[in-house]
Amino acid sequence: GDKRLEELNVADTTCGYCAVGCRFDLYSDGEEILAARPTEAEDAPVNGISTCVKGKFGYDFVNSDDRLTTPLVRDERGEFREATWDEALSRVVEGLGSIQEEHGGEALSVIASSKATNEENYLMGKFARQVLGTNSVDNCNRLCHSSTVAGLAKTYGYGAASISTDDLEIADCVLLTGSNTTEAHPVLATRIKQNVRDGADLLVFDPREVQIAEYATQYTRVNPGYDAVWINAITRHIVNNDLYDEAFVEERTTGFEAVREAVQEFTPERVEEVTGVPHEEIVSAAETIADADRCVFGWTLGLTEHSHGTENVMAMANLAAVTGNLGKPGTGVSPFRGQNNVQGGGGDMGPLPDNFPGYQDIADDEIRAKFEEAWECEISPEYGYYTTQMFLAADDDDLRGMYIIGENAALSEPGVNHAEDILEELEFLVVQDLFVNETAQYADVVLPACSFVEKTGTFTNTDRTVQMVNEVMEPKGDSQPDWEILQALANRMGREWSYDSTAEIMEEVNSLTPLYGGVTHDRVESEGGLQWPCWDEDHPGTERLYADAFNTDDGKAHLQAVGYSEPAETPDEEYPFTLTTGRVLYQYHTGTMTHREEGIMQYTPSDFIEINPDTAANYGIESGDMVRVTSRRGEIVVSAQVTDRVGPESVFIPIHFAESAVNRLTDEEHLDPAAATPEFKVSAVRIAPDEGD
Ligand code: SF4
Repeated sequence: GDKRLEELNVADTTCGYCAVGCRFDLYSDGEEILAARPTEAEDAPVNGISTCVKGKFGYDFVNSDDRLTTPLVRDERGEFREATWDEALSRVVEGLGSIQEEHGGEALSVIASSKATNEENYLMGKFARQVLGTNSVDNCNRLCHSSTVAGLAKTYGYGAASISTDDLEIADCVLLTGSNTTEAHPVLATRIKQNVRDGADLLVFDPREVQIAEYATQYTRVNPGYDAVWINAITRHIVNNDLYDEAFVEERTTGFEAVREAVQEFTPERVEEVTGVPHEEIVSAAETIADADRCVFGWTLGLTEHSHGTENVMAMANLAAVTGNLGKPGTGVSPFRGQNNVQGGGGDMGPLPDNFPGYQDIADDEIRAKFEEAWECEISPEYGYYTTQMFLAADDDDLRGMYIIGENAALSEPGVNHAEDILEELEFLVVQDLFVNETAQYADVVLPACSFVEKTGTFTNTDRTVQMVNEVMEPKGDSQPDWEILQALANRMGREWSYDSTAEIMEEVNSLTPLYGGVTHDRVESEGGLQWPCWDEDHPGTERLYADAFNTDDGKAHLQAVGYSEPAETPDEEYPFTLTTGRVLYQYHTGTMTHREEGIMQYTPSDFIEINPDTAANYGIESGDMVRVTSRRGEIVVSAQVTDRVGPESVFIPIHFAESAVNRLTDEEHLDPAAATPEFKVSAVRIAPDEGD
């Protein structure tokens, strides 16, 4: 534009797309977001001056024509019409209130949003428990890393990355699995690649030869669904050949003998048969890890989105512990979190059916009493429903009303044909979002929220760093930040909330959540980010977990023997291929934001299926042909991309598109027993050239 930079609004803020947590200065002119520029280096601990296309250019959605700027309610004919806040909120109070009166608060649930700030997610949990009287509050973490959280909590004590992002750059070896790092976490990939250029080893185990595999010192293709098998095989080679860290195992772990015994069943023959990995590749990976002084183990949803994802994670946790790779610079485990604030808003802030903020168990009487006193309400010790279970519970009328905030459940749930039926049948549904997304089509009332550029608060990124989000423009139209909407509703439903700012909400979090005891806005602002645990005002925050002790009763890592599990659904004659799903660089989740970016839509405008050249030849399919893909739960038609990125037994479809909604094919019923995560990464399907109707 014609204006000089200094005449514009500027705010230093944290990216609202992925959980890498890049920071930059955002410039706006009134409503228009003009540019993202690097901020002071000390204020950008994760990215320095780097960003990716989403953080740099992904802002068209803010002013997109279909951005919601007023509340919507259904008229007599069932069509949406615009409404005042007063009318819309009255309808919500009436809708949720009458279910609460007739069937009790447990008949209601809240899906919170990992796109929203920590402060807002804290209030979403409080709203569910205090105002509605239900423990059924959950969020998208259920669909991704909840098995990481469960597996790491059980072994080490904290369901989070132990490392700081810098460790990816100082490790001698990085093992990556189930992570399309270049596309899903671009700035982390940049840092790993830099480390590889400087001589570090990079081991990539993945069913798809993802882009980062090009930089790997070893890329190994694995069959989807058997990750614990090859991980246990690596551990087996390490312990059987005395390559493990005896001192670390002795002093800092329990359960080693059981693990040593459990991994013996993963013999070279069996491992090769099940995972497709030749023994030499197990040996070379094991020796590279054992030789390295410092190794980081990184993963994304390829490891977790399984009916036994928690076991996969525990197998990885065992491997990191037996090799002594925890608590020191350049070592540790790093689940790369997806949503910008899924670590903080999705976990730490406790919009969870079983936990208060800071992973405090609701079944613990003392802890529950603390929250009952602070929130002036009674709280049931019974865990509520996980997101995935909400949709099953609604089948039996155990759940009748939902309040869904910033989550496109109609596309993101597994088995969406089923989820659509449930949304349709609910007695009352409130959706709070930036857009009338696919889920909002089923709503009785839609409340217009605003995006991260229009509000102030904090996000917590994938390495536990809490960072400021600062408003760079006023809320669009009549939209409001989630926290203000929740406060208005709480007050209409008989409570007295009187927060003037998100800083005040954070003070309440500080007082109730030991992990965040010293994480005040003032400190986050002046120190350029704070990593939890940060127990009090004087605590400096924690760069690396487990330097001295694990977060368990005896301070040791509790290794867990992990045996053999199969995916819930394996290929057979009728459905001979394994379908996996995932992300692409230029898109983001269900596309609510990125589909409104003209520049971004030029790159990956529509859905596709990756098919191996051999498979394609067998079926007479060429790139660009339309292919019908069928599972036991549904059918979609997508265009073919013939590529050897996938092996001959599997196919891949991205998750971002409504027209073809790959989750029509996935399975809503077989959930991880510990974490209730669905098995997005393995569905049996058949394919056929689509002849049209
Ligand atoms: Fe935003 Fe993630 Fe890209 Fe950084 S890497 S700019 S946090 S989307």
